[in-house]
Amino acid sequence: MPETCGICGETVPFDATVHTVIHIHSEAGVLDVYVCRPCYEERLGPMFERVDTQEQSP
Ligand SMILES: [Zn+2]
Repeated sequence: MPETCGICGETVPFDATVHTVIHIHSEAGVLDVYVCRPCYEERLGPMFERVDTQEQSP
């Protein structure tokens, strides 16, 4: 069953989505959205940059 990307509004196959739950400090409380992979990598990925990238020191 296809999902609608919460960022670009594109309809994407379920297995091409990333389920994202964002907690907001507002009345909305929780944003429970599916986003497509390109949007995830472009918009959300950078927010969750892992520390791994900094573990390249000898
Ligand atoms: Zn998208």
